[in-house]
Amino acid sequence: MSSTPRDPLMLDAAAYVLGALPAAEHKRFEQHTEVCRSCQHAVCELSAVTDLLRLAPREAIMAWLAERPAGSEP
Ligand SMILES: [Zn+2]
Repeated sequence: MSSTPRDPLMLDAAAYVLGALPAAEHKRFEQHTEVCRSCQHAVCELSAVTDLLRLAPREAIMAWLAERPAGSEP
């Protein structure tokens, strides 16, 4: 990836969705998403992905990761 996000808070979206942000940052990001459409969109997309990951059996994910050729990108 050669492009950098214009919104530095968008980098927090993944950690926010995973519940990995410290409480203060979680609250700050939540307030930010109320006014930032880009971050709202990022949270929606990432939530869909994490929901799917929760549905997938852990063994299937580990097998897929093990079989995937190193360095392959979609
Ligand atoms: Zn934003």
